[in-house]
Amino acid sequence: MDTSNHRVTIWSEFTDLLFPKRCFGCSQLGTSLCTLCRAEFSFQPALRRIDGLKIYSASHFAPVCRKILLRAKEDGIRSADLLVTQALSFSLTHAISHRKVLLQAIPSQRNKIRLRGRSFVTSLVQEICSREVEQIQLLEFQRRVFDQSELSAQERSKNMAGALCVKAKKFPISQEIFLVDDLVTTGSTLLEARRALNVAGFTVAGAITAFSA
Ligand SMILES: [Zn+2]
Repeated sequence: MDTSNHRVTIWSEFTDLLFPKRCFGCSQLGTSLCTLCRAEFSFQPALRRIDGLKIYSASHFAPVCRKILLRAKEDGIRSADLLVTQALSFSLTHAISHRKVLLQAIPSQRNKIRLRGRSFVTSLVQEICSREVEQIQLLEFQRRVFDQSELSAQERSKNMAGALCVKAKKFPISQEIFLVDDLVTTGSTLLEARRALNVAGFTVAGAITAFSA
């Protein structure tokens, strides 16, 4: 376990002790996801194609998913992390059905890594790796981008254009590469990641996300 993940785990165990469990969806006391909200957090395989990129997701971005994602990403709550990881794992199984693949997470920006103590999606991908599935970390941000949540599709695409680059030189890769992100909205981030990898000579077979908005 790297030190940043370790720090997050200790912090989330500490906050679990300080604050009794409440449902991520409706704040009811007692459990991190009550029966009603659990029913809303259901997975159904979905496939979208954006500019030729196949994107597999586990669930549409219901309000309960938004709340779970926020608690995982911004607060580092371990039980929320696990729910997002379950969704990613579901998408992965749907996308690859036991083929050997390499997963490239969309990295976090440096300021977010400092703030949260980890690159969010990268740390979740670590959890879904197995004998068939390995993580590669070729991508990094080469400039700052704005938060995308309030931007239009056109603004998102402009915001992301040329933002990512490949830090490693080309090396031989025999397995397919799949991109991984927590959420796909317009696809601008995933398409930028594919562009950066293509420029460096890598091809991208598809993408998986936990949620699709
Ligand atoms: Zn609830």
